[in-house]
Amino acid sequence: MSDCNETLRELETFLDGELDEPARDAIQAHLGGCMDCLQAFDFHAELRIVIQHKCQHDELPAGLLSRIEMCFGEDFDGDGRIG
Ligand SMILES: [Zn+2]
Repeated sequence: MSDCNETLRELETFLDGELDEPARDAIQAHLGGCMDCLQAFDFHAELRIVIQHKCQHDELPAGLLSRIEMCFGEDFDGDGRIG
C-alpha cells in the first residue's frame, strides 16, 4: 500500500493514464481509504477537465471557479482586484 506522499507524487502520472496496472491499483486502493488524497485527486482531475474545456470553449463551470478562488485564498475581493 502506498503512503500519501507517494500517492500524490504519482497523481499526475495516474491522471495521464501512464501508470502500469499494479501502480494504478495501489493508488486506487489508497484513495479508497484516504480522504485527503481522494480530495486532492478529485481536485486535480476536475482541474484537468476545466483546462480542457477552457481550451475548447473559454468557459468555466461556476461552482468549480469558486472552488479555485477559495484555494487561492483571500486575495480575491470579489470584483477582481488583488488586495
Ligand atoms: Zn493519503
